Amino acid sequence: MSTKVAVVTGSNKGIGYAIVRGLCKQFKGDVFLTARNEELGKMAIQSLNEEGFSPKFHQLDITDQASIEKLKDFLKNTYGGLDILVNNAGMAYKNASPAPFAEQAEVTNKTNYFGTIAVCDALFPLLRPHARVVHLSSMASSYAIRKCSPEVQAKFLNPNITIEELTALMNDFIQAAKNGEHEKKGYPSSAYSMSKVGISVLTHIQQRQLSADSREDIIVNSCCPGYVDTDMSSHKGPKTIDEGADTPIYLALLPEGTKSPAGDFVADRKVYKFNEYEYKM
Ligand code: NDP
Repeated sequence: MSTKVAVVTGSNKGIGYAIVRGLCKQFKGDVFLTARNEELGKMAIQSLNEEGFSPKFHQLDITDQASIEKLKDFLKNTYGGLDILVNNAGMAYKNASPAPFAEQAEVTNKTNYFGTIAVCDALFPLLRPHARVVHLSSMASSYAIRKCSPEVQAKFLNPNITIEELTALMNDFIQAAKNGEHEKKGYPSSAYSMSKVGISVLTHIQQRQLSADSREDIIVNSCCPGYVDTDMSSHKGPKTIDEGADTPIYLALLPEGTKSPAGDFVADRKVYKFNEYEYKM
């Protein structure tokens, strides 16, 4: 039997780093820590080596198509497939950032939404039967969808929405932000939260597609890791990175034949409708 393999994006620090550490403990296969900055990635590998873990490293910038293709070719040639994909890489402007909202909307979605989609487009063809995909979404997606106008909410929550329609909505949000009319068009003023609305909705669509795929038992879920002590939260989150990694790792290791969660939004290992979820500290 071929060696199983797991990939975690953006895992040189924060929650992704802890997901790699947890998978090294529990997953029977090779675990890839990936980072856009090779030096930071290798330093992270070294510190995990010092703890007695042996993850492997591959460079990956999710906004760089050539970098994504290199990882894809490497996985195909070395492993012939992929068993776990954790889309953890993400970015957020700080609340105090002076960057104009239009820039924040474009740049944040370039990584969090379009980068994640590009990774999925390249790597989903490699997923083997029983593969597990986890997207790091956020409680922010829950707040943001509820702040959208009823018309915009209805579009995002349409159970038959396609990826093309979702991407068109994300582009509409970005364009509206550039025109200074996103609020008038029914979108809230948070670039990060809207990028995570995209991820939560994407998950439902992808599961619909994967359930109809000839490869059996492939599951994708999104999750909220909770409010975690990382650079992204300016270390304000009370959860440790290992606590934040708990639900993503649980989803990455769902046993064969799992029926639920599948295509769901999960927090603290429980399934919620992402638009109804309330985070409790
Ligand atoms: P960090 O900022 O600590 O880590 C983010 C990671 O993503 C870093 O490794 C960063 O690399 C990487 N990254 C950013 N852009 C890219 C890119 N283009 N290509 C590859 N890697 C990239 O964040 P967290 O650990 O807090 O967040 C992890 C995930 O969890 C994110 O998706 C976030 O949105 C989500 N989340 C976090 C919460 C929290 O409270 N912390 C709450 C809810 C969701 P580099 O070091 O090079 O910048």
